[in-house]
Amino acid sequence: MTRAASAKKAASAKKAASTRQTASAKETASVKGTASAKKAASAKKAASKTSAAQKASKKASKGAAVKKAPAAKKVAVAPKKATARLKGTAPAKAVVHPPGDESPTALVRRARRINRELAEVFPYAHPELDFENPFQLVVATVLSAQTTDLRVNQTTPALFATYPTPEDLAAANPEEVEEILRPCGFFRAKTKSVIGLSKALVEDFGGEVPGRLEDLVKLPGVGRKTAFVVLGNAFGRPGITVDTHFQRLVRRWRWTGETDPDKIEAAIGALFPKSDWTDLSHHVIWHGRRICHARKPACGACPIAPLCPAYGEGETDPEKAKKLLKYEKGGFPGQRLKPPQAYLDAGGTPAPPLGAG
Ligand code: SF4
Repeated sequence: MTRAASAKKAASAKKAASTRQTASAKETASVKGTASAKKAASAKKAASKTSAAQKASKKASKGAAVKKAPAAKKVAVAPKKATARLKGTAPAKAVVHPPGDESPTALVRRARRINRELAEVFPYAHPELDFENPFQLVVATVLSAQTTDLRVNQTTPALFATYPTPEDLAAANPEEVEEILRPCGFFRAKTKSVIGLSKALVEDFGGEVPGRLEDLVKLPGVGRKTAFVVLGNAFGRPGITVDTHFQRLVRRWRWTGETDPDKIEAAIGALFPKSDWTDLSHHVIWHGRRICHARKPACGACPIAPLCPAYGEGETDPEKAKKLLKYEKGGFPGQRLKPPQAYLDAGGTPAPPLGAG
């Protein structure tokens, strides 16, 4: 082969290779293009589907909104029912807010003024259960349920003479304790409680009454009311004692409309500084025992009548009201006494002995 022919062949081979490369590149591009197009189409389809789904979703949403409309109607009905209850179909105790249009500030002022007036009338107010130490107070308070403090005070001397410490009472023969506690009523349950709480004191608190609310309420027979009596009077820690008198009076005074003792405690606690809580409890309970009785409050002889929205619930005639007072003639030996003026005006009318209620 000549040199010219060889060069021609090489040029031909190069051209063919170039053509193949171009074709291959085109093919690749074509494939890529096809794939890309397919992908784009697929994306478009997906987008289309998404769009359709969104549309469907929107439609569904609209449908749901339309369907929800009746629910909105149902919600709108609820207040009507509530209104109906408020209009008188529910018992009065369902109303939990103090009636009337007294502002919170005015309520605080009036409540504190009532407490100041009662502090003047009962400067010596104190827990009426006899006790010499925290153990005796917690036991006496447990025993005071469903009976009078007077009855408890008549019973506890024999109990504490026989069982002076938690260890003694924890190891006591229940039948012997029942005999001592019989005059207090519910003596079997009370025997179980005081022996149980004595055992708990010995086993869990080293024979000492704990000075914390969370520990006291763990003792058998000890609820928040008893715990606050103990904290306030044996440990000097502020507490509100929500007993039957306290509940009745704070509702009469419209300090709160609550009926649950824990909620009453919270509502009244918000009206007074903590430092007032223990004395406030004594003032209110003393007033409830002596003047503002459950059935026949002595409104006509009441020192806080001008501040009381319930004035008139009881006897308003001063002469008749004076006869309803339960007051210790001469007071307690060695203690200051400042009975209500109405009682002084009564000219020393003998008062029934305290202890009932
Ligand atoms: S006025 Fe009557 S109801 Fe009011 S606190 Fe005095 S005794 Fe109770």
